[in-house]
Amino acid sequence: MKDRSKRILVIGAGMAGLTAARQLAEAGLKVMVLEARDRVGGRILTLREEGEILELGAEFIHGQPPELWALIREAGLETYALDGKDACHKSGKVKPCDELGEVFKFLNGLDKWKGVDLAFADYPPLEKLSLDKREEVINYVQSFNAADYRQIGIHALAVQQRAEREIGSEEVFRVREGYDRVPEFVAKKVREAGGRIELSRTVEKIEWERGEVRVHARDGGEMAQYMAEQAVIALPLGVLQHLGVLFDPVPAPLIAANQLAMGPVRRFTLLFRERWWATHEKANLPKLSFLFAQDAMPPVWWTAHPWETRTLTGWIGGPQSATFNQFTREQIGDAACKELANIFALPVAMLRGQLIGCATHDWQTDPRSCGSYSYVPAGALNAVLKMAVPVAQTLYFAGEHTDVTGHWGTVHAAMRSGIRAAQQVLAPAHAQIHELASRRA
Ligand SMILES: Cc1cc2nc3c(=O)[nH]c(=O)nc-3n(C[C@H](O)[C@H](O)[C@H](O)COP(=O)(O)OP(=O)(O)OC[C@H]3O[C@@H](n4cnc5c(N)ncnc54)[C@H](O)[C@@H]3O)c2cc1C
Repeated sequence: MKDRSKRILVIGAGMAGLTAARQLAEAGLKVMVLEARDRVGGRILTLREEGEILELGAEFIHGQPPELWALIREAGLETYALDGKDACHKSGKVKPCDELGEVFKFLNGLDKWKGVDLAFADYPPLEKLSLDKREEVINYVQSFNAADYRQIGIHALAVQQRAEREIGSEEVFRVREGYDRVPEFVAKKVREAGGRIELSRTVEKIEWERGEVRVHARDGGEMAQYMAEQAVIALPLGVLQHLGVLFDPVPAPLIAANQLAMGPVRRFTLLFRERWWATHEKANLPKLSFLFAQDAMPPVWWTAHPWETRTLTGWIGGPQSATFNQFTREQIGDAACKELANIFALPVAMLRGQLIGCATHDWQTDPRSCGSYSYVPAGALNAVLKMAVPVAQTLYFAGEHTDVTGHWGTVHAAMRSGIRAAQQVLAPAHAQIHELASRRA
């Protein structure tokens, strides 16, 4: 019989919190998840409009992360691989390109760096590139990692490149019904295993001592208190850094959290009446996949090819993402039409006439995320490991930023951190050795 006497609170119902909650509930613990939003999934947010699936947070499955694929298969979700042709806009022309081949080659060379951890901006081989190539590489690093290249560390980038190669992340997939079906499925499993998920419960304070946790959360207008022996803290890095939740006393991982960085992204999806890039004679790109337009804003665009949707997504990662900070959705849609008109030499009025709407979510000003996803600045690789160490066998930190396998900023990193936190709860002897070892280190 399952022993339901041990109570555990999980704070945050993103993929990290839900994954931990499921494992713990299935192992027989009395699990309660407290989530501030009125939905599960956190930075996975799917909209459905006019028969189209619009992802406003995570969209892609990168390569073959085994835990994520096992879950997708278990949930019976249909996926498809992105393919098609990439195009580059350069010197006023749109041409076929293999933009990323050389960039990947350059970044794979990071493995050979045996020097101290420097910011990518100070990586000596960067200086040897032509101005054009240098800009391309920097744009990629900033865009993909939502990072400032003057901060992101070479060591972490090398670890990440290796981790990505291991799962073949150049292959990219989408969940056809929408990514939100994944966290919804895990939430269902948590409930089936006897766990509870309380939505619209904003945690404001966590008081703790060894073997006891008191969580103060806003439940509608009222404050409520929740007690347990242990807690998994699966809050985003940005929320921890902005003191969105107060801890008393302050646990060591919170100090480590301040060494990491939460990066910004502006992502928006335009919904058109027709797939004009496929049909209009001036564009004529029926198989368009990614479009790289270094001089445009955004510099990266993509379609859902081979799925013939009427959507185009624009992406700006890193410091440049502030470009549209003060814009409404309508203003972003308008500015995007102007950029696309310029890229394809089409009349702006025609594109505006085609536009049905622009969907976006501002993850930077969202108090439940305070940023898009994490990256590791120079000299901070150890901080990730410190975040993953249990605190007095009472607090366990999870979330994409605590992944110890180098996949930061992804859905599978969040899952891995949730699995690791649950294992630490379930195997306390092993976790205690880890805790003692890290204190001596
Ligand atoms: C624009 C964008 C695009 C992305 N694209 C991809 C992609 O294509 N592929 C990919 O793999 N990853 C992508 N990611 C990253 C991926 O979404 C995240 O790494 C992952 O979803 C994080 O999961 P998590 O559980 O760590 O955090 P979250 O999903 O943020 O979960 C944390 C939870 O804590 C809750 N919370 C916050 N404050 C409180 C509080 N005070 N009290 C209670 N609960 C609280 C939040 O509401 C949230 O539900 C993208 C992210 C963004 C923003």
